[in-house]
Amino acid sequence: MKFHSTRNTQLRSSSFDAIRHGLASDGGLFVSDDLGTTTLSFDDLISKSYQDIALEVLSRLFDDIDRSVLRACIDAAYGEQWDTSEITPLVELGDDFVLELFHGPTSAFKDVALQILPQFMASSVKAQESRRPHADSESSNSESNAGERIMILTATSGDTGKAALEGFADAANTGITVFYPANKVSKIQQLQMTCQQGSNVQVHAIDGNFDDAQTAVKQVFVDQAFNEELMANYHVRLSSANSINVGRLAPQVVYYVYTYVRMLERGQIAQGEQLEFIVPTGNFGNVLAGYYARALGVPVAQFLVASNRNNVLFDFFNTGVYNRQRPFYQTTSPSMDILVSSNLERMLYYESQGDTRLMSMLMNDLQQWGTYEIPEELHRTIRRLFSAGWADDDQIQEAINHAWREHHYCIDPHTACGYFLMQHTARHEGVKRVLLSTASPYKFPRVVLQALDVEAPENDLDCMSTLCEVTGVSIPRNLAALCDAHERFTGTISIDAIRDAVASAAQNM
Ligand SMILES: *Cc1c(COP(=O)(O)O)cnc(C)c1O
Repeated sequence: MKFHSTRNTQLRSSSFDAIRHGLASDGGLFVSDDLGTTTLSFDDLISKSYQDIALEVLSRLFDDIDRSVLRACIDAAYGEQWDTSEITPLVELGDDFVLELFHGPTSAFKDVALQILPQFMASSVKAQESRRPHADSESSNSESNAGERIMILTATSGDTGKAALEGFADAANTGITVFYPANKVSKIQQLQMTCQQGSNVQVHAIDGNFDDAQTAVKQVFVDQAFNEELMANYHVRLSSANSINVGRLAPQVVYYVYTYVRMLERGQIAQGEQLEFIVPTGNFGNVLAGYYARALGVPVAQFLVASNRNNVLFDFFNTGVYNRQRPFYQTTSPSMDILVSSNLERMLYYESQGDTRLMSMLMNDLQQWGTYEIPEELHRTIRRLFSAGWADDDQIQEAINHAWREHHYCIDPHTACGYFLMQHTARHEGVKRVLLSTASPYKFPRVVLQALDVEAPENDLDCMSTLCEVTGVSIPRNLAALCDAHERFTGTISIDAIRDAVASAAQNM
């Protein structure tokens, strides 16, 4: 039992339970106080494969799961569905580096986590079943419910939905229901979701923005009576595939470690030499994974937190005040259109030395007033490790254009936020910089074409072909296949109908 809530150390869970539940019962996020107590031995990782590095990292973060189980999960998650055996290739870009996180089956960085999360879930159900014969008396708040199935509920700003659908489609003992904001994701993203195959999947467009959807889904999770009803009537337990789940966070730590190991291996960096990571950010999940990697020993000088026009994190790092009471902008980087960066709570927990009372207070303020202010000392502490910036849509275009002009390298609008900041901030003396690239440009071909001053065809699918002609970069298989796919899920529901949609999906599981 190593995980507990950021808001209460008493609510304890094993790794598998934390993964299955997603969110702690008090609304807090699962954290472990073991983080940072041991570091990796990087010498032993040199020349190891992505999968082998993943095993070392995951067995530190989930040390109560058998290595053989982790190994099987890793092998299933990082195989032929990736278009390169490197999984997350590290490429040079002038004096800097780019870590390409988009070579998975949906061409978004979320595949890194969402290819393995269903494996964790399935393994946790199996572990639970093998425990059942003697579990009854020993665990009073027993997790065991005969024939229990897991339904994943996800609110998505675009990429998570598809990556989760792809990961969970037809997975044993699970179902998945995805809500996305109608007309607020790219046409390609929408098609990726509405054409999803699989007997256990549901996709709904909702009338509202991403935050509305996420808030409504969170409310479903904490509605105890509703959850009991689902369990009693259908043996269904709700769980989350959003980036608050430790089962998503942990696999993302791997690529930071991988980066450092590859750079050591190629002589691009000396042992212990510090790196700066530039991270396009929404829910703070991607940056937080880097923070965990640092706790495992990856030397990090700084994280540059890159936002789009929804620059709530930029203001937070500069002022110490988190304020979600602000206009919500729909941008050309929709996966970062977020006003509540849930994963921030984990970083604040650790940086406040595990102050659960403070976390409860802050998150209560956020819930009640839409804003919170962290103590001055905590603000000073986090400012040492994190800097922040943002790019508006024009600057995103400028960055895409610049990367192509200068480096003949095509980036997507999310990566472009980071690229813009990298381009406009001075390199710290002697510190190598790594930009995390979070999506294939082919997921946003219209915006990219416009940035390259190429006339974009009417249809988004044709935009992919044009982009291919212009750049010579081939279209990822999964996206090319959308041209002949059939849309299964159409129509839009209101925010208020989310609960009923969940109940009906559970009934039909
Ligand atoms: C989800 C996403 C992000 C933001 O990641 P967080 O973990 O939410 O910070 C950035 N870029 C793309 C393409 C994404 O899909």
